[in-house]
Amino acid sequence: MRLSRFHLHTSKETPADAELASHRLMLRAGMIRKLAAGLYTWSPLGLRVLRKVETVVREEMDRAGALELQLPTIQPKELWEETGRWQKFGGQLLKIRDRKEQEYCYSPTAEEAITDYARQELGSYRQLPVNFYQVQTKFRDEIRPRFGLMRAREFLMKDAYSFHLDDADLAREYENMKAAYTRIFTRLGLRFRAVQADSGAIGGDASQEFHVLADSGEDALAFSTGSDYAANVETAQAAAPGPRPAGQETLRKVETPVQKTCEDVAALLGIALQRTVKSVAVMGEDGFVLALVRGDHVVNEIKLAKLPGLADYRLASEAEILQHLGSEPGFLGPVAPCGKIRVVADCEVAALADFVVGANQAGFHLAGVNWGRDLAEPDLVADIRNVVAGDRAADGGELRLARGIEVGHVFQLGRKYSEAMKFTVLDETGKAAIPAMGCYGIGVSRIVAAAIEQNHDAAGILWPEPMAPWTVAVCVINPKKDASVDAAAEALLAELQGAGLDAVLDDRGLRPGPMFADIELIGIPHRVVVSERGLAAGTFEYRARTASEAESLDSQQLLQRLRQG
Ligand code: ATP
Ligand code: MG
Repeated sequence: MRLSRFHLHTSKETPADAELASHRLMLRAGMIRKLAAGLYTWSPLGLRVLRKVETVVREEMDRAGALELQLPTIQPKELWEETGRWQKFGGQLLKIRDRKEQEYCYSPTAEEAITDYARQELGSYRQLPVNFYQVQTKFRDEIRPRFGLMRAREFLMKDAYSFHLDDADLAREYENMKAAYTRIFTRLGLRFRAVQADSGAIGGDASQEFHVLADSGEDALAFSTGSDYAANVETAQAAAPGPRPAGQETLRKVETPVQKTCEDVAALLGIALQRTVKSVAVMGEDGFVLALVRGDHVVNEIKLAKLPGLADYRLASEAEILQHLGSEPGFLGPVAPCGKIRVVADCEVAALADFVVGANQAGFHLAGVNWGRDLAEPDLVADIRNVVAGDRAADGGELRLARGIEVGHVFQLGRKYSEAMKFTVLDETGKAAIPAMGCYGIGVSRIVAAAIEQNHDAAGILWPEPMAPWTVAVCVINPKKDASVDAAAEALLAELQGAGLDAVLDDRGLRPGPMFADIELIGIPHRVVVSERGLAAGTFEYRARTASEAESLDSQQLLQRLRQG
């Protein structure tokens, strides 16, 4: 490939609305252009990278025994109604009508479509297990599409779905997919971790996410120093607290005229933040509920929503708070002035003695509060908080936090979809059995952005070699001036390509400064300069993208160096 015949369109300007480095660099490198919110065109340059990622994903899925197929992106409403997700998927589901006023959606995921295919194709246990996958465009009408390809509305996903006669076989395939994912992210040259995850709207039992580690990642991840325990903070758990100590203090009302936050109250009273309790008022299925976490903790919405009656909870309004607690927010507490209220206490709160809560009266808090004496034991004690760095882990280690970008997700779905869609096969005894399902997603387009987020510097992108648009750039100085330089560069390109290297010739005739700046911006891992002076000395100037100095190498040394990668 000659860059003079390629469409390379780089820019020095930093796009104003791009917050993340990956978004900025993809725009500056001309890999993508925005069509509309969350909708991007992949340029010839960008597509080279996307295809390389896709190839690795395909090769490893094939190696793992999965079978590629392709489902339509437009899917009928009736199919999605069978599982209740036409409603439940919410605003992310893009609904469309055809000329006959029939309703469809643009597939955000494909459990329904694949289960429909499976129930037409699979009738006997002899056809199981099977794992079907596709690499297909998805659409999710994200509330806030942002960060370019990181959270787009239209994006490329690899989604796989497996079918099994029993749970043990599903568990086996789940491990097989985890191993395939580990190979994929390792081959792509990314620093990543697999973590326990919440199963979210897709549902099911076991689930793990694969995260590319990067400080700008949207997800907080917790790791234990005591074992290989790693979990998304959405579900991460700390060790249970020790037994509740005996109370020492008497209950007293303290004046907190303007102190509405736990931090301010703790500072005023001169006590540790850990002894204050935050009351979060919510409305559940059966009405008003007060959720309690320690002042230094925050409520974990996912954990809270898993408790009985709180699946669809929302924050209580000021009017509801006033009605149930007789107070304005900022001074709320579980010592109820207006009759019984339902209290859900985090495990750490249930283990406190002599703590501080709001007095349900503007300007006052209660100190020296003790369970059983000053208020009834909580109606429910559960883990409803986010872990924090330094928490003790169940394995005795300490929890550390890091940030990650979710690039893959594996689930054991169980029979949720096969049951709802009445999919059965005949088992060995001729009885109808409902197959168990697994599903396995990879954000193919998100991987491209995540790789940049993890690997860039002031000059531009630092592609891991397997993802680079080309691995070697042969830069020609003054190609027009001296035909022998151009011919030598062409010969070198042929030699490199012959050696199996994905090399490109930069024969655009740019001055060295702007030419090198482009090659660095688009992240080519290796640069070789062919110049009149070098040719006279029988050498090429070689520089790795990550090296600070260039070196002069003859063609044999150069090949050897490039083969090392
Ligand atoms: P997120 O929590 O980031 O919204 P998700 O958990 O909803 O993602 P899955 O349903 O697990 O996503 O989809 C599989 C993969 O598709 C994700 O691991 C992620 O890499 C990718 N993905 C999901 N939503 C987007 C998006 N809006 N833009 C780009 N990639 C996405
Ligand atoms: Mg997910």
